[in-house]
Amino acid sequence: MSLQQPQRISILGATGSIGTSALDVIAQHTDRFQVVGLSAQDNAEKLAQLARTHGASHVAIGNEAHYPALKDMLAGTGVHVLGGASGVAELAALEVELSLCAIVGAAGLAPTMNAVQAASRVALANKESLVCAGPLVLRACAEHGTVLLPVDSEHNAIFQVLTHEHRTQLERVTLTASGGPFRTRPLDSMHAITPAEAVAHPRWSMGAKISVDSATMMNKGLELIEAHYLFDLPAAQLDVLIHPESIVHSLVHYADGSVLAQLGMPDMRVPISYALGWPERLRVDTPRLELATLGQLHFEAPNAARFPCLGLAQQALRQGAPAMVALNAANEVAVAAFLEGRLAFTKIAEIVASVLAKADNAPISTLDDVTQADMAARALAHDLL
Ligand code: NAD
Ligand code: MG
Repeated sequence: MSLQQPQRISILGATGSIGTSALDVIAQHTDRFQVVGLSAQDNAEKLAQLARTHGASHVAIGNEAHYPALKDMLAGTGVHVLGGASGVAELAALEVELSLCAIVGAAGLAPTMNAVQAASRVALANKESLVCAGPLVLRACAEHGTVLLPVDSEHNAIFQVLTHEHRTQLERVTLTASGGPFRTRPLDSMHAITPAEAVAHPRWSMGAKISVDSATMMNKGLELIEAHYLFDLPAAQLDVLIHPESIVHSLVHYADGSVLAQLGMPDMRVPISYALGWPERLRVDTPRLELATLGQLHFEAPNAARFPCLGLAQQALRQGAPAMVALNAANEVAVAAFLEGRLAFTKIAEIVASVLAKADNAPISTLDDVTQADMAARALAHDLL
């Protein structure tokens, strides 16, 4: 039993893959965390059940159509129920010690900005908010003294091994990537990939959007941008290495030739627990790494022709903030169309490339600028569809 008061925590995107894994970690440490707020977009039933199980005092459902049902399900419990995007934003603004931002997509940006203002620490899984508005998120963290803790496994790994004292001796950082389900698929059959094939990731169990991003390797592209902001590194000091087993979660190269890495089984509860427990380490009940059982680990360079999205993200990173917003928005539209069966897998990169080529270059200095650029890029992508 910890003698400290439990830390108040809110989870934005509680019903998703990351949210559910986080609640599993939290349930193993009920003396340490007190769940205050939980949000979801559509699944009112699961949200109500999570609120009861974890004793949340506030919940928010993004899709207003489900608000009456959620209110009914929680009648008599005393749980405060909010609805709509404004309800999610209000929940994100609850004063807590810790907020986990695990909404998918640019929709997570506004709640993340509220969390940065209201929480002492923000555990960030929602990489799209950094891709769209890295400088704004970082500036708000600095203004409010908020500690930003990366949840994404690669960034969490880098965060664990990138020591402040050796920052000036850093040579480069390598993000590892599984290569997804199509690393060895014949190139001439890539156009025929179905949504079911794309979401069946060989190593990680994740939400549909990030699973498709992993299959195109746009996920690694978004992560390069995420790493650029989190660790203040230029594109030239960031590279990508395919590692199909997903055991080595990234590499930090130093000037003396030393390379530091964090290893672990591919289980998001490990990086989530590090972010939630920081600066301590929590005990988590996850499968342990046994290298002798695995026997071998493999590494290869990514193939640019197979994974054009990776190159597009690198291009956006070189071009600057407006291109990054356009890249992300076009990708969200194209991935949604692919998942609905309206777009071929190989067309995702084509849509993103076209939007990137036409994207506006207006500077991004406020959240409104992000919204404008995001909406313009989405409109372009929809036209192309
Ligand atoms: P998911 O689809 O499983 O869950 C998304 C959550 O966000 C759900 O709770 C959903 O209700 C909520 N949501 C969806 N749209 C919303 C909207 N418009 N407004 C408010 N809430 C909304 O996704 P996930 O796999 O848990 O991923 C969440 C984030 O974490 C993504 O940014 C993803 O890139 C990142 N991430 C995920 C993993 C993973 O293993 N799943 C790993 C690294 C990073
Ligand atoms: Mg990752």
